[in-house]
Amino acid sequence: MCGIVAYLGSQEAYPLLIKGLKRLEYRGYDSAGIAVLNGEGLKAYKRKGKVQELEDFIHSTPPLGKAGIGHTRWATHGIPNDINAHPHLSGNGKLALVHNGIIENYALLKAALEKEGHHFQSDTDTEVLAHLIEEVQNRGQLPLEEAVRIALKRVVGAYAIVVISQDEPGKLVAARKASPLVIGIGKQEFFLASDATPIIEHTRKVVYLNDEEIAVVSLHDGMKVKTIQNEVQTPFIHELDMELESLEKSGFDYFMLKEIYEQPTTIADSMRGRINVEENLVRLGGLGNHIDKICQARRIIIVACGTSWHSGLIGEYLIEDLARIQVEVEYASEFRYRNPIITDEDVVIAISQSGETADTLAALELAKEKGATALGIVNVVGSSIARLTDAGAYIHAGPEIGVASTKAFTGQVALLTMLALVLAKKKGTINPDYFHRLVAELANIPNKVEKVLEYDAEIKYIAREIKDRHNALYLGRGCNFPVALEGALKLKEISYIHAEGYPAAEMKHGPIALIDEQMPVIVIATNKSAYDKIASNIQEVKARKGMVIAVVTERDKAISEMADFAIRIPDTEEPLTPLLSVIPLQLLSYYIAVMRGCNVDQPRNLAKSVTVE
Ligand code: GLU
Repeated sequence: MCGIVAYLGSQEAYPLLIKGLKRLEYRGYDSAGIAVLNGEGLKAYKRKGKVQELEDFIHSTPPLGKAGIGHTRWATHGIPNDINAHPHLSGNGKLALVHNGIIENYALLKAALEKEGHHFQSDTDTEVLAHLIEEVQNRGQLPLEEAVRIALKRVVGAYAIVVISQDEPGKLVAARKASPLVIGIGKQEFFLASDATPIIEHTRKVVYLNDEEIAVVSLHDGMKVKTIQNEVQTPFIHELDMELESLEKSGFDYFMLKEIYEQPTTIADSMRGRINVEENLVRLGGLGNHIDKICQARRIIIVACGTSWHSGLIGEYLIEDLARIQVEVEYASEFRYRNPIITDEDVVIAISQSGETADTLAALELAKEKGATALGIVNVVGSSIARLTDAGAYIHAGPEIGVASTKAFTGQVALLTMLALVLAKKKGTINPDYFHRLVAELANIPNKVEKVLEYDAEIKYIAREIKDRHNALYLGRGCNFPVALEGALKLKEISYIHAEGYPAAEMKHGPIALIDEQMPVIVIATNKSAYDKIASNIQEVKARKGMVIAVVTERDKAISEMADFAIRIPDTEEPLTPLLSVIPLQLLSYYIAVMRGCNVDQPRNLAKSVTVE
């Protein structure tokens, strides 16, 4: 949550900061601001609303200066307004700071600083840190980096910060704990950002700052990194592997639609080099010699949040069914605080698109502390979870910019399907013919996703029927139950229609009371194993005048005749259905949201990379 960008070099900072903030806007977009340093001092501009509003506000008098910091906010402390927007200045106005995270002990620090005569303008936790750094610096007559280091030793919480000071031009100081920060190294210039997306067009050389590290970038001395405990570190320079086009909308109205349409490619990318039909092989190189450990594990615990939690549930169905290993799927936020029983016989798998999800990261840390093997399934290369795990696998979906996850979800499901197959083969719990059929069918899934996308116009038509409803119910069975949850979440997230997902048989235990002619019920009815049972559930809805939209297979007859609307998907092996059945639900939510005039890529109150608890 929240995007940080900063620049130091020989170019004008302002246009670089604005462009960088636009790239990071998916991370938070309730207010934005920049501070630019030139010979006359620091100039800060802040505006409630999107980065565009900030740009329009500054438009006529863009500040000049070759160093600056910027921020796009997702408020945690204080409402989104001009004053609470970042950057925050210290008391004497000579130092400015942008921050991603939460200073948990800000109230105590603030009270102590007020006693020393500090006055605060905003309601944020961040402003307290700006004043604290100034106070420490003034008391000890310290260089900026030392003041930042000592101030941070007094901070409890999570942060990625960049600090700029007019007393020490030609230098930026950055630090991180639990929130991400990447430093791009150009020729005599530095780009700092929450992720690599604003950096890629300037340089491919980056350093990912580690937890509790402070970096000083300086035009004279280059980059230096040390820990908060004052130990000098040797930064490791990574080469970025990302294409600039993946950050553009490429003619689509929204990133979300582009990302839905990318799925034939991204699912194929997630399998590239990992499955080989001729050789009847599935291989997850990143998990290497941990496969034996997983096979012998007492249980697998999957920790995740939101959409990733739904893909984890699908993983549970597949791994238990095919590989006969016990799996539990936990909300990371509950897991970390409920004193769970974990031993070194457990394997914990963290799933996160960004690899920065604060609760998932903390859950993984806890599992590691207790001796479990820590594995990760993430999208963003070099992210915190990727670096914390003992081993893992990237889903290779490319940057996902729409806040509502689509291609990352199918990438995660594809990865978990491959994992289930690898484990099943290793353990010998799968019939060899069935294994071969699943491998061949999985390889063919991208073509079938392509076919689902051909039903776009029909799905758009059905969206028109639902767009003015206030509620919706999603039902599914088996591995399509998590798909029902995911479909409901997509609708809530981007169209603000209240929606619930349920196992189809659970309808009778409560939600059926809600059904009347106003209630659309979206039923995923592709399971061969439970076809008649789902058909009965549909009859129960129809008997109460609910509107049924059924996702069925191409040759289906009985359920399509019962339903008010049918959406067809190609037939496939049952464990692979989620990769197809979720696609129409993504499109349905997308079109409903567009018809309701919602900002699909930046839904209200949400942000993409949830780096706060
Ligand atoms: N806690 C800070 C605030 O509310 C930063 C939030 C963020 O990460 O955007 O302003």
